[in-house]
Amino acid sequence: MATVLCVLYPDPVDGYPPAYARDSLPTLNAYPDGQKLPTPEAIDFKPGELLGSVSGELGLRTFLESQGHKLIVTSDKEGENSEFDRYLPEADVVISQPFWPAYLTRERIEKAPNLKLALTAGIGSDHVDIDAAIERGITVAEETFSNSVSVAEHVVMMILSLVRNYLPSHDWAREGGWNIADCAAHSYDVEGMDVGTVAAGRIGLAVLRRMAPFDCRLHYTDRHRLPEEVEKELNLTFHESAQDMVPHCDIVTINAPLHPETRNLFDDELLATMRRGSYLINTARGLIVDRDAIVRAVESGQLAGYAGDVWYPQPAPEDHPWRTMPHNGMTPHISGTTLSAQSRYAAGTREILEDFFAGRPIRDEYLIVDGGKLAGTGAKSYSAKS
Ligand code: NDP
Repeated sequence: MATVLCVLYPDPVDGYPPAYARDSLPTLNAYPDGQKLPTPEAIDFKPGELLGSVSGELGLRTFLESQGHKLIVTSDKEGENSEFDRYLPEADVVISQPFWPAYLTRERIEKAPNLKLALTAGIGSDHVDIDAAIERGITVAEETFSNSVSVAEHVVMMILSLVRNYLPSHDWAREGGWNIADCAAHSYDVEGMDVGTVAAGRIGLAVLRRMAPFDCRLHYTDRHRLPEEVEKELNLTFHESAQDMVPHCDIVTINAPLHPETRNLFDDELLATMRRGSYLINTARGLIVDRDAIVRAVESGQLAGYAGDVWYPQPAPEDHPWRTMPHNGMTPHISGTTLSAQSRYAAGTREILEDFFAGRPIRDEYLIVDGGKLAGTGAKSYSAKS
């Protein structure tokens, strides 16, 4: 019998939803690059239900308990007396979502002698100390592609809302005003702008594809170049590094994982090389940018706007300066946890657990760390210190 310790975000303030806005989700046949959708043997939830909060339990309880395993689900994850810390010593598997990350630090990994699998329900396993997992032989896995398009849609929404000055204009309408000049004085067209992505993986490429019809000039930087036919199709300009790319852009979107190469990439120095009045959208990870350098840049006008959904730590403290700085379009970390995305990553989590308990190999594209080294998607997109 294994203990599965699952950390999920709390239920809605008014309680677990008794009903939903829509009756079903659209059917997808595959991910955009042809990767197979999750293939669990069965699921015990209805796609479209809230699965990522504590009462949703990622739809795992029936499956795990029918196999004799113990499932603990909690949102209490901070501090030594948290439920997370209390159950860690017996946990064989830890499941966490980036939206409400259970930071699996080296110290916590040391407190979890039975831990064999750290599973991210979603994408982005930087809340796990990758080097410590490598040293301990813990497998780290996530559901690659499960919410990449969800995030790409959020990025496009944030680009448009910042450049068009949507949120402040909506506030005027809601508050009974008709202040056209106030709304228009910070509003532009996206058409003709230079848009660049730091990383053109699953999310970055999906953003580029979605921005192409807006008649923008498209740029990217990545560790590996995209196939020539994709560069031609989207008329992309490749740059060797973020440093090379950002001076040529009006809008920059960050879509790289957080790892030693990308930590603190957007500091005062890099921000100063951007065009004055650029827009920066970060749905990748909060620590890829310097928090206070961003505040300085929006206050000085070097950035005309900053938006994203990723912070550090999460949940962000009430006095986090990004909540109130000018021209921000921040949301809590939600882009990858639409009801649509949840049904995919809950099914992917189930698939990984089925394989893990049956002793079958986990799909290569789901792996970040395996067998004491970076593996699968981790070997391609991450770097380790050691
Ligand atoms: P992918 O693995 O498909 O893409 C990541 C890309 O980043 C790869 O192309 C990789 O390059 C590239 N990359 C890595 N390091 C660098 C670097 N130093 N400079 C430039 N490019 C780099 O992942 P996704 O696109 O699906 O997701 C990207 C990230 O987005 C996740 O790791 C996660 O942090 C974040 N995310 C956020 C979500 C949210 O809800 N806000 C939800 C999902 C993801 P290559 O492989 O060519 O070496």
